[in-house]
Amino acid sequence: MKHYQPTEAQRERVSRSKRIVVKIGSALLAKGGTAIFSQLAGQIAAWMPPEKECVIVSSGAIAFGIDVMGLKKRPTQVSLLQAAAAAGQPRLQQHWSKAFARQNIHVAEVLLTHADLANRERFLNARHALAALIAHGVVPIINENDSVSTDEIRVGDNDSLSAQVASLVNADLLILLTTVDGLYTANPDKDPTATHIPLVTHFGVIEDFATSESGISGLGVGGMHTKVQAAKTCSKRGIAVVIADGRTPQVLKKILAGKTVGTLFLPSIRVASRKHWIGFTLKPTGVLRVDAGATDALVRRGRSLLASGITHVEGKFDRGAMVEIVGPSGPIARGLAAYAAHELTQLMGKNSKDIARILGYVSIPEAVHRDDLTLLEYHHE
Ligand code: GLU
Repeated sequence: MKHYQPTEAQRERVSRSKRIVVKIGSALLAKGGTAIFSQLAGQIAAWMPPEKECVIVSSGAIAFGIDVMGLKKRPTQVSLLQAAAAAGQPRLQQHWSKAFARQNIHVAEVLLTHADLANRERFLNARHALAALIAHGVVPIINENDSVSTDEIRVGDNDSLSAQVASLVNADLLILLTTVDGLYTANPDKDPTATHIPLVTHFGVIEDFATSESGISGLGVGGMHTKVQAAKTCSKRGIAVVIADGRTPQVLKKILAGKTVGTLFLPSIRVASRKHWIGFTLKPTGVLRVDAGATDALVRRGRSLLASGITHVEGKFDRGAMVEIVGPSGPIARGLAAYAAHELTQLMGKNSKDIARILGYVSIPEAVHRDDLTLLEYHHE
């Protein structure tokens, strides 16, 4: 089987990425030692705002917790795992804040569960909070909220969580840092005929390579299988993914410089298909009728929908609901409403700066943010 190297155009696409999610696995933190925190923080600081924006998904709470609680190995009992996560998370966070403080960068801690991502209102809340952190140059450090997660609400592994976070923040690139330099045709530790795969543009046979190598570390729960699944999730949303060995010197710098490092997953679809998901997967539960000015702003100028352009609000819906946006000559877009129907009824025709006075709070200044909106006829953005 012939393995293709990424072309120059494909590598350039990676280096142009603006919003990047970096996921650090437990195995890497265990093998790389605490030096890994400062190495990664240093590299991230080198590409921070305004050029690039970064969100980190960091494992390691349970691994640190095992140490804090003096356990000999990873417990199997759920309550002990949850206790270890709770005991280890502050230590994990402390390592990140110290490492970034040396770069004069502030960090924030965000703990999520699957329930936060599955519920549209909580999804939007998380998205807006993260967007505000990013806009202020603060690096969000995200982990699963393991100590309160039950089976029903768990994401389960941070590879999947990072793919969901990449979609949540509308990232261009997800970098999964681990202790293997990407995907091989078989487990390279066990099979000498295993060959490295530098580029993946189609899934299928690739998924078979990865199934044999799951649950490798004993500290974390992921493996190559969950990483490839994460890449697949991202590909549906138009997000590129790199799996690389986090111990490679200057690994992040090299990836962003367009060097061939690890395995690059480049989806064939270039459309931001997360928007496709907003536009065509969810069902509208209300209608926002807008004036000609707002129609022009949405259709021709790539803007968000502001309350001032809304003329009618139809239907009963909560914040985060999918609504259809209808201009003077018909439906133009679909999007996630940042406010509930009764709130938008109060806000329509009003200036964004009056939101606080009218509602007593401001979620975001827009009624439907551009990132949460899909035009019905123009899917090319
Ligand atoms: N959330 C877990 C932790 O911080 C890690 C999950 C994983 O290894 O993917 O320990």
